[in-house]
Amino acid sequence: MRSLSALIACPGCDLLLKKINPAGSIKQFCPRCNRLLYQKKSHSISKVLAISISGLIAYIPAISLPLLTLNAMGMHQNGSVFDAFVSFYHQNYIFVAVLLFLTSILFPLLKLSLLFSVALQLKLRLYSNNLPFLFRLSHYLDEWGMPDVYLIAVLVSIIKISSVASIQYDVGFFCFIFLVVMTRASSSALDSEIFWQEIQQIKPPMQLHENSSD
Ligand SMILES: [Zn+2]
Repeated sequence: MRSLSALIACPGCDLLLKKINPAGSIKQFCPRCNRLLYQKKSHSISKVLAISISGLIAYIPAISLPLLTLNAMGMHQNGSVFDAFVSFYHQNYIFVAVLLFLTSILFPLLKLSLLFSVALQLKLRLYSNNLPFLFRLSHYLDEWGMPDVYLIAVLVSIIKISSVASIQYDVGFFCFIFLVVMTRASSSALDSEIFWQEIQQIKPPMQLHENSSD
């Protein structure tokens, strides 16, 4: 009898299928509903490594430098993403402050750091016992890291404020856009099947034996 870990369910029609072999197929479709189940992403590990490094370099300026400067009636005001978090906190919008901190500050940093760490270990073929856990954690964070939502909120604010104040775009704004693009690009370049296959390949034989006897 085939083990359940060797099977996947089609998200379109729940048909159980043999797990994808990333070494062989470039694309795999469901034979029943023709839904695309897997599309191979070439050089996934190198791309994720390069994208996560780029994102991490942009992270500090993106979070700490002012995004915009508003000029109205001789008054100038600017603020960074971190300033927005502090401001919400001091105005007692605790829930909004926590949400902003988690989704736009903490989770993007954790996600990029985890992907960098996993991709680097795979590239150097260095296996550590927490490697599968780190990769799984980066998957969970993918759903919660949403700096793009904050960017949309900033863009909406720009449209609303532009009629009453002149807006100057600061360095932090471009760094933040770059961070958002890198966070999204890391998800697009990530081929989980290839990552899991590499994790299995670099796993020392002793541990493979231990797992197979479980
Ligand atoms: Zn299907």
